[in-house]
Amino acid sequence: MIKRIAILGATGSIGTQALEVIEQHPEKFEVEVLTANNNANLLVAQAKKFIPNTVVIGNKEKYSFVSEALASLPIKVYAGAEAIAQVVQMGTIDVVLTAMVGFSGLKPTIKAIEAGKSIALANKETLVVAGDLITKLAHEYKINILPVDSEHSAIFQCLVGELNNPIEKIYLTASGGPFRGKGIEFLRTATSRQALNHPNWSMGNKVTIDSASLMNKGLEAIEAKWLFDLKPEQIDVIVHPQSIVHSIVQFEDGSMKAQMGMPDMRLPIQYALGFPDRVKSNFPRFNFLDYPALTFEHADVSVFRNLDLAYLAMQKGGNMPCVLNAANEIAVDCFLKQEIGFVDMSEVVEKTMMSSSFVPMPSYDDYIMSDEEGRRIALQVVSKMR
Ligand code: MN
Repeated sequence: MIKRIAILGATGSIGTQALEVIEQHPEKFEVEVLTANNNANLLVAQAKKFIPNTVVIGNKEKYSFVSEALASLPIKVYAGAEAIAQVVQMGTIDVVLTAMVGFSGLKPTIKAIEAGKSIALANKETLVVAGDLITKLAHEYKINILPVDSEHSAIFQCLVGELNNPIEKIYLTASGGPFRGKGIEFLRTATSRQALNHPNWSMGNKVTIDSASLMNKGLEAIEAKWLFDLKPEQIDVIVHPQSIVHSIVQFEDGSMKAQMGMPDMRLPIQYALGFPDRVKSNFPRFNFLDYPALTFEHADVSVFRNLDLAYLAMQKGGNMPCVLNAANEIAVDCFLKQEIGFVDMSEVVEKTMMSSSFVPMPSYDDYIMSDEEGRRIALQVVSKMR
């Protein structure tokens, strides 16, 4: 049976790699919907190649360009965030791959779950912001959330066949990013160009900056809490610079299972799309002799404070992870625009968390408001730094 896939965020790093996977397996996967926020040129090129039923361009100003470029093809074209939230409910879709960046993933993910679609979740911010809402909905509509994030895919793979065996704890591995081992003085003058130069993984800008600041691992801890129903103290982070062990589950008998492989996002993408089957691939294989030493070390949270801030938000619960995420999205954006320094990002997040109103049991509307308030306060903090 062919799975029909909707890719939200088709022109990003995960989206383009997902299309590589799909292209190699036309007998298993078919592209039904492609959406992009702004990259109209690439979206058009992808649509011409894969001939999906529907494409949506988020930026409405680019609608006429996309619809004219695809006019001779049997492809429906829409524009705007509302259209993205609507097309995910199309009856012909089997799996929705959520690969857009940040908070914008929340609404279409909710709509897709309500339409009973399996979710291949690459947009970790959705679970960070509103994990309780999303997991409740997934339960209610009896749909699978298949993690695409490599660490969570690893844990998910380790849990296959362990349905009734409780998890004692998990270890999320972190590469440490380009600034591993650096002190605070170095980080004060670190540039976005240095931060974007990740040693192991090729990813989009937002996640690469988050990876350099260790916020990515903080967001992933919160993501893991919701995906695997864990308490904060069951989630540990260990720095593993080679990025071969993708994460580890420890069971109640003390036994540990790890999933290993080359750092290649096509692997977790393909596992999520193909689940429960493993699909034959020609990706490069791991060779032990190329990696004579796999090493592990603690993250230096006195230098990389974001990891602590994310755990604080997770322990506090309610809307606090949503506030953390909003402040971080602003901080990363301002860092990339060179308006603030690398170390300032943690300060923006911390001050925003301290000044935002706390909502212990947020509704969907509370999350929308917390996100807005978090962004507003974060921008105020940034303006005082200039
Ligand atoms: Mn990851």
